Amino acid sequence: MRRTVGVLVMEHIAVGSVEGHKVVGPLSIFPEKPQSLDPLQSMPAEGIVDCIRQQVDKVAGGEKIAAVGIGFPGIIRGGVVEDSPNFHQAKGFALQGALSAALSGKLAGAQVRVFNDADVMAAGIAATQGKLNKLMRVWTLGNGVGFGRYPSSEGIWEGGHSVVTLDAKENFCGCGGRGHLEGILGLRSMRLRFLDLEPEEVFENARAADARCAEFVMLCHRALAAATATSIHMEGPGMFFVTGPDVRFIDIGLLDRLLHEMVKMSPLQGSRFEVVPTSDEMGIIGAAVNADRATQN
Ligand SMILES: [Zn+2]
Repeated sequence: MRRTVGVLVMEHIAVGSVEGHKVVGPLSIFPEKPQSLDPLQSMPAEGIVDCIRQQVDKVAGGEKIAAVGIGFPGIIRGGVVEDSPNFHQAKGFALQGALSAALSGKLAGAQVRVFNDADVMAAGIAATQGKLNKLMRVWTLGNGVGFGRYPSSEGIWEGGHSVVTLDAKENFCGCGGRGHLEGILGLRSMRLRFLDLEPEEVFENARAADARCAEFVMLCHRALAAATATSIHMEGPGMFFVTGPDVRFIDIGLLDRLLHEMVKMSPLQGSRFEVVPTSDEMGIIGAAVNADRATQN
């Protein structure tokens, strides 16, 4: 069976060896323990490549591997990180070429492919649910808001930067654009909006009927429903997964109701939301599956 290595770069770097849509052996995580300041934020792009190379070496355990798939936040085209609002230092970096050149020994010659991080989450969900023949879309909610699509296809797909409001005061998005979904739902934007509260406290206060927080949580749901409605109006109905470290506050019933207020044409009915817990394994499997598909065709 072909062995592939999957790499997920989000708040940390997680790497695992994958065979037949399953992780084999232990994952390698950098940094090993969560740190309050994200060490990847301040690491130069070359340092990130070196870190990935060491981890790939470790999980490959001296075995030959066919391909390495990487999920990385931002606009990825032709193996190059064209832009990455959460990793400014990687803008314009040829990640695929740099890692290919860095692999040595038995790993030399392994094909490297880079994908958007949310796209690999979508592929991971499709693979683990046995639905590799369906269109899957996923929202990943973290510091940034990612939009992933499986099968991965040419294009930009920056759904997290969908404009969901014309309110000129809505300017918290990490990319600097006004009125974006990420400017509402991204954890970093929430911290800028509620300078005195952590996102967790905002959701707690909303449950305790604090008016300002409850109003904001409703805005979050309306924004996510709006961006989803736009995707349905462009590509048709289907399954939408919501994943990320802080998705417990998402109310699927409310999202469904809001979405149905926004999508009325009969051929566009029938979409569903599902919350799936975030796991590194899901992204690693997705990165491996995408790399496998991309290098066999
Ligand atoms: Zn934006």
